Amino acid sequence: MNPSQIPIINYHKIEAQMDVGVTTRHPQRFARDMRLLKDMGYQTFTFHDILSGQETESGKKPLMITFDDGYESVYTRAFPVMKELGFRGVVYVPGAYIGKENTWDVQFGGKRYRHLNRGQLLELQRAGFEIGAHGVHHRALTVLGAEALRNELNGSKDMLEEALGIPVVSFCYPFGQFNKTVAAQVRTAGYRFALASMYWGNGEATSYALKRMNIYRFDSEKAFRKKILPKPPSWLVFRDWVIQRGALATVLYQKLTDRS
Ligand SMILES: [Zn+2]
Repeated sequence: MNPSQIPIINYHKIEAQMDVGVTTRHPQRFARDMRLLKDMGYQTFTFHDILSGQETESGKKPLMITFDDGYESVYTRAFPVMKELGFRGVVYVPGAYIGKENTWDVQFGGKRYRHLNRGQLLELQRAGFEIGAHGVHHRALTVLGAEALRNELNGSKDMLEEALGIPVVSFCYPFGQFNKTVAAQVRTAGYRFALASMYWGNGEATSYALKRMNIYRFDSEKAFRKKILPKPPSWLVFRDWVIQRGALATVLYQKLTDRS
């Protein structure tokens, strides 16, 4: 199965309270999303499933559900709902922040959130979830020199493989930022797949530039149904691309405060 043909949707935090950004999905909305997917006959895939040659069961439709940043709410909020429905997801956690607070996230005035700890990651993995790499420090990789880039890619793979005891096969670009050099280095580091965000006018999806649709707090059921289509409408893709530009404030901040 070719992962660029599967719709991939992405969540961040699953929390009731509002946050500064728009990426936090309300737990009730999340549960509704999952039940809708179940009713519509979706079957979830991980990259490990794809590598082992797993195919879609008859009458089912393939979909991948990812979680950026590996916040604790993946375990406390999303996991119970998904387990009940027989769904599995792919979770991306920055290596240096396993079990720690999100001090890397400079959403000004934003709350502190805890990332998944090793025990939670292992339990998710035992339940068929996949844990993928998201760099060591959640840095935008396109602004790094060659050595720092290698450290982020190889370091996060090593950290996770030591914590989880199985190969880490997929990588998720922090802030969705990548270019040809970064993608080539991801392949060299031994990853088989890499996830971008939904991007606009930047070529076709490849195994090292897979496109995803973010599910935002304000997305209605109508918008959600469009985001799980193999080809979401371009106005929706463009709208999300504009929203994502907001994440670049953090990239700029890291660049300005970089003392390495
Ligand atoms: Zn991230």
